[in-house]
Amino acid sequence: MPIEGVAERLGLRVNKHKCLCPFHDDSHPSLSFSVSRNTYRCFVCDAHGDTIDLAMKVLGVPFRDACKWLADEHNIITTEYAPAVKLVKSYPPDVEYLSSLVSRPVLNQVARDFLFGQRHYNPKVVEWLGISSIIEPTPCWRAGKPFYDAPSLLFPYRDIDGRVLNVQSRALVKKEGVPRFRFPRNSSIHVFNLPILRYLKDNEPLYVSEGVTDCIALLSSGKKAIAIPSATTLKDEDFARLRSLHKGLNLHVYPDNDTPGERLYNNLLDVANCIGACLTRHELPEGCKDFSDYYVKSSPTILN
Ligand SMILES: [Zn+2]
Repeated sequence: MPIEGVAERLGLRVNKHKCLCPFHDDSHPSLSFSVSRNTYRCFVCDAHGDTIDLAMKVLGVPFRDACKWLADEHNIITTEYAPAVKLVKSYPPDVEYLSSLVSRPVLNQVARDFLFGQRHYNPKVVEWLGISSIIEPTPCWRAGKPFYDAPSLLFPYRDIDGRVLNVQSRALVKKEGVPRFRFPRNSSIHVFNLPILRYLKDNEPLYVSEGVTDCIALLSSGKKAIAIPSATTLKDEDFARLRSLHKGLNLHVYPDNDTPGERLYNNLLDVANCIGACLTRHELPEGCKDFSDYYVKSSPTILN
C-alpha cells in the first residue's frame, strides 16, 4: 500500500511528498514521505516509520487494529472475523453536512462523460440513486480540509427510507497513490441502495455486487441490486435489516473474474448464511472482468 495513499486516507493532505506533521504543532509541512522506501519521517519531531506505524499513531490504535483498518480501507478482505476497529479518537462523519452535498445532485461534464459516454448507465438509475459530482476538492466536514478529490462522483448511501448515512467519492481522474474510492474517516460501512428493498417483491432476485459501479450497471440492465462494499465490516444492524425484511431473500451474484471476486463470493456466502438467504452464482462471459465491463460490452453504444 503506497504510504502517501494511506496518509491521504488518514486525513493528511499530501503535496509534493510532504504534509503537515500530525504529531507536533506544525504550520509548515515538515513530514516527508519516501515513496521508494514507503516510509515517512518528520524532520522536526523525528516521528518516523512505515504505513502500519503511521496508521497506529494517527488513529491511536495498536498494531493489530491498524492492520485491520488498512485492510478494510483498501478493500482487502481478511478471512478472520474481527469486530470493527474501535478508534480512540472516533469522530463519526458529519452526516448532516454530507447529506447537504448530495441534496441537489449535479452532474458536471466529466461525470456525464463517464456515466453515460463511457459506461452507458441508465440516466433514470443515476437519478434514482441521487448520484452527484464535484469539480473542486470538497471537505467531508462543515469546516474541514478538502477530503474528496476532484473531479469525483459522489455516491450517497441511504437507509431504507432514503435518509443519507454516508457519501463515498469515486475519483474521475486517476492519481498516483490516491485511492479511487473514498469514505470519510471513521465511516461505518453500509449497504448501498437499501431503498430498493421497499420495492422488492417476495422471492424476486436481488443482485449483490461489491462495488457501487457494478451495482449501477446491474440496475441499468433492469435488475434490482445492492452493493456491499466490504462484507467483513458490515454493521450488525444492516445484517438485521436484511434478515428482517424478506423471508428467504433470493440473492444473486456475478463474481469478478479474479481472486478478489472469489473472496467476495465466499464472503457473500457467509452473509447469506447469516441472514438466511440463498445465493445463486452467475458466471461472467470469458474476457469480462466484472459486471460493468460485461454491461458496457453488451449495451448499445449509441447513448451519450
Ligand atoms: Zn513532527
